[in-house]
Amino acid sequence: MTTIGGTSVQQLAKEYGTPLYVYDEDHLRMMLDTYQKAFQTSAFETGVLYASKAFSCKAMIRLVQEYGFYLDVVSAGELVTAKQAGHDCSKVFFHGNNKTPEELAFARDCGVGTIVVDNQTEAERIKEVYQDSPYKVHALLRVNPGIEAHTHKYIVTAHVDSKFGISFLNEEELVATIRVLQEADNVCFDGIHAHIGSQIFDKQAFREEIAKLFAYAGHLKETYGIEINTINLGGGFAVRYTNADAPIPIKDVCEAILSACEEENQKLNGQIKRVCIEPGRSIVAEAGYTIYTIGTLKKTPNRNYIFVDGGMADNIRPALYQAEYDAFLDGKETMKGEVEYTVAGKCCESGDILIQKITLPKAEPGDLLVMKTTGAYGYSMASHYNKLLLPAVVFSGSGKTRTVIRRETYEHLLSLEED
Ligand SMILES: *Cc1c(COP(=O)(O)O)cnc(C)c1O
Repeated sequence: MTTIGGTSVQQLAKEYGTPLYVYDEDHLRMMLDTYQKAFQTSAFETGVLYASKAFSCKAMIRLVQEYGFYLDVVSAGELVTAKQAGHDCSKVFFHGNNKTPEELAFARDCGVGTIVVDNQTEAERIKEVYQDSPYKVHALLRVNPGIEAHTHKYIVTAHVDSKFGISFLNEEELVATIRVLQEADNVCFDGIHAHIGSQIFDKQAFREEIAKLFAYAGHLKETYGIEINTINLGGGFAVRYTNADAPIPIKDVCEAILSACEEENQKLNGQIKRVCIEPGRSIVAEAGYTIYTIGTLKKTPNRNYIFVDGGMADNIRPALYQAEYDAFLDGKETMKGEVEYTVAGKCCESGDILIQKITLPKAEPGDLLVMKTTGAYGYSMASHYNKLLLPAVVFSGSGKTRTVIRRETYEHLLSLEED
């Protein structure tokens, strides 16, 4: 029998029902602690930002705050969550390729510390919004250094036609955007930001990113007299979804990043003062599990289906980009795998398959199937398709459990509908 954070899967299912998202809080704390300790150096001021889009709720934000993290938000909704959780808004970075004027004004009113500017139009908007602001906001410019990290093509963001940031190839626009920010009242332009992809296994990708960003900072100074003191390298650190994945330990990634930064900074005579990273997935993914109840088994000519009581509505990643997951049957962990199964959800889509192929001991209706590593982009990408109710989210740590997001009810589901 498996336990998560000291409580058995069976007990969790019994107490909270299924489908259920469960986070091992001890694991979350370990990840936060690891990042905080590993991303330190005497050579720079460092900052670790939690990319809250991976999993955003008040309990998670509070946990992150406890460990001294900065926070990334991409919308007013994520910002409201941070604010209501009591996160210090001066430690919030506001990202996004199309922030609305209302969102920017809201960010100003909340006292958001840093805006990561995506394009020139947005820079002009920021100039306007902050004209009479009682305090200064920091700004970074999102740039596209044109590096493709080796991962699934749908989640690569830094190719030349990416919708994010301004490409190094569009230098005129890039410099013009920085000029707008430099000239704006109450805006303090600090530097550049890039995010080269997701689920990146290769340290070399980050080294290339670092080399390009530092060299570009030197180039901007030399050619245009633009002073850059901050470089934000983004996130994208890989996690283990299945045994085929072998991510580099976070401690090693942090050390490799910092030593590459130090090396590049020597070439710039110490121009860069502050380095940031923005992990999302790698903090929450492996701490998260989804517990389903098996309802039915069905045999077709070529497949043995397991039908579970959730599916693409609570985890869109397999359908969206063929993401792979591992799972086990609670109580049968030590039994030999006998049958090759396909795990399917209950939504009206043939593509509602959670796991294409997995060998498990013989399953029966009523068994609990636990999917591993569902902590990132699961709840945050969940939908109401087929009007399935959003599952509850439970934190389980040191043998104690607590609901952090309640299970939806039919009342919630219909709460916005006019009679
Ligand atoms: C998504 C994203 C992150 C986090 O990526 P992970 O793969 O979850 O680590 C960080 N920064 C930016 C700008 C992002 O878009």
